Amino acid sequence: MPSDPKEPAGPSFGLKSHGRLSIVASAGPRELMADLRVKGAWRVKIITLFPDAFPGTLGLSLTGKALETGLWTLEALDLRLYGEGKHRNVDDTPAGGGAGMVLRADVVGEALTDAAIGTSSDRYKWPVVYLSPRGKPFDQAMAQNWAAADGLTLLCGRFEGVDQRVLDEYAVQEVSLGDFVLTGGEIAAQALIDATVRLIPRVIGNHLSTDEESFSSGLLEFPQYTRPLVWKDRVIPETLLSGHHAHIADWRRDMAERLTKERRPDLWRAYLAAQGRDPIEDQEQ
Ligand code: SAH
Repeated sequence: MPSDPKEPAGPSFGLKSHGRLSIVASAGPRELMADLRVKGAWRVKIITLFPDAFPGTLGLSLTGKALETGLWTLEALDLRLYGEGKHRNVDDTPAGGGAGMVLRADVVGEALTDAAIGTSSDRYKWPVVYLSPRGKPFDQAMAQNWAAADGLTLLCGRFEGVDQRVLDEYAVQEVSLGDFVLTGGEIAAQALIDATVRLIPRVIGNHLSTDEESFSSGLLEFPQYTRPLVWKDRVIPETLLSGHHAHIADWRRDMAERLTKERRPDLWRAYLAAQGRDPIEDQEQ
């Protein structure tokens, strides 16, 4: 979006909206929220230097269809448009020296003020999150909590990250996608949104499919098979073809437990504890 240096910062400033219920520039945040609440749309606002990265893969398949039909809406705020001076500077050198650049607290703060509607009122549940390798590791429970909220504001960092003061001032939660470093928060934001949006009612047609998959039960998912019945001499486990539902359920639980125990001892311990089983005893079996 071309920037007009004379245009004042405000809720509609630098906004790139997606979805059927996209923002009308004249509507105030309060009215908008009331309107959207009636329609029940979940909202995400993303502060980024690369608004064109959105909706990206979120515009495809089930999340894309749900965006089109208005089950959720996405607004990307261009951080550049909150920048300082003629060049709209958003970053500066790190205090104390060192490599790289840091996103300025004043610039990010202004964008957050615009994006974090809902946080000023107790009536709305609206987490504000900074994507950061230092953050709490993202998991399914977080996605479930966020899907149950009214919306979410995500701040995507670039360069060396964001001035600490803005994170403290706005009590921003830091959330990480994993123990690795990306060049920016945009890919992480898309992953978090995808995991969250698919838990919103009606986004995925068959609800059973989210109930049974990895993590919902605390276990990794059992292996899946489909046609052809034989492929490169490999057959489908007999139980799955038996038509005996109780046996199939037992087989799947057994496989899920076995996989979790082998691959994710951390999840396995938590699963046993949740069931009141003793991990030591279980190991001896
Ligand atoms: N200097 C920082 C890394 C900055 S990477 C550090 O060592 O912690 C630039 C931006 O990419 C970050 O501000 C963050 O928004 C995003 N990012 C990088 N890795 C990430 C991860 N694992 N999870 C979520 N966001 C990440």
